[in-house]
Amino acid sequence: MIERDTRGIDVERSRWTAAVRAGIDTDRAHGAVVPPIYLSTNYRFAGLDTRGEFDYSRSGNPTRSLLADALAELDGAAGAVVTASGMGAITICLMAMAGPGLRIVAPHDAYGGTWRLLEALRDKVGYDLRLIDLTAPDAAGRVRELAPDLLWVETPSNPLLGISDIPALAGAVHGAGGRLVVDNTFCSPALQRPLALGADAVVQSSTKYLNGHSDVIAGVVTAGSAELVEELAWWANCLGVTGGAFDSYLTMRGLRTLRVRMAAHLANAAAVVDALMTHSAVERVHYPGLASHPGHELAARQMDGFGAIVSFEVAHGEKGVAALVAGLKHFSLAESLGGVESLIVHPSSMTHAAMPPEVQKVAGLTPGLVRVSVGIEDADDLVADLRAGLARVQALGGNSIRA
Ligand code: PLP
Repeated sequence: MIERDTRGIDVERSRWTAAVRAGIDTDRAHGAVVPPIYLSTNYRFAGLDTRGEFDYSRSGNPTRSLLADALAELDGAAGAVVTASGMGAITICLMAMAGPGLRIVAPHDAYGGTWRLLEALRDKVGYDLRLIDLTAPDAAGRVRELAPDLLWVETPSNPLLGISDIPALAGAVHGAGGRLVVDNTFCSPALQRPLALGADAVVQSSTKYLNGHSDVIAGVVTAGSAELVEELAWWANCLGVTGGAFDSYLTMRGLRTLRVRMAAHLANAAAVVDALMTHSAVERVHYPGLASHPGHELAARQMDGFGAIVSFEVAHGEKGVAALVAGLKHFSLAESLGGVESLIVHPSSMTHAAMPPEVQKVAGLTPGLVRVSVGIEDADDLVADLRAGLARVQALGGNSIRA
């Protein structure tokens, strides 16, 4: 791609150079290399009928705009709307694309907060919500039958890392005249670009990999058409869920290192998966990088790497999980994912607690399931820590599948 920089020089660069250099060297006041943060809530009018690009920071803010442009370029989008949280991003998508009498098809194992919002808004808005297994081999056929106005996809899914076929689902929903939104939180544009695979819009919780340092709650929607971007931006402003300047500044800083962080995450995830696969206290490992994973070939086709979220089931159910997490030194027992530090979570009592037990069961969440977000610490430390935890599970005795 070629564009002119602020000095009028033609610059040819990839989208990753663009992410690193977004806003660099643009400060006219002092020549600051790093773009300043604009905290002001409001902007002076030059005259009664002469407004500048920005007037009020809920509607538009230079720091947030810089981030939105960089995110749009990384996704190959017409534009991006930066929101105060991932849930804010999901909310504006539903406001723009859901309505009374319309049909929404969504995964039966979506992130718990997404599930809660879809359920809660169904009663207020009056749409027809169908939750189905979008990782099933016949998922595109089911979508064709259901002919939704909006298809919601999360791939890989949370927490079981199921893989949905984005191009096939895009074809199915477009054939029915509907639109496809993909939640790309687990991948970020470093690993998957759903717009290029046929999605109409992409949602991310920037809280995760985009920022990458577990110190910002934020979200983003990117979309392929300028009209949809405009509609989403209208809703974000109307609802008051646009992202704050300081959060946008930090997210921009995180974004500059996304590609190198992700490479380190992937290498560590591979080491962790290897260790889990050979441990007798582990009953099952869910990771799309494994040849035994049902979505492996699909993931290899549509992703640029298998991600750094790994779920596994330990022996002895919840008691096994308690033994595993009790003395971990390098995995914090905490919700969220995608930060540089490793985390471990028990989905059924933590991230997915909003789902009643019967819904959890349908989604495949077992009491012994844990999800780890593999960080960028030293791989040997992470593996040793997990092995010590699994030895505590083993010490509980009794049967385990691999014993
Ligand atoms: N989508 C997915 C897949 C998530 O995992 C999360 C949060 O964990 C969200 C959306 C919501 O994002 P946020 O917590 O930033 O509102």
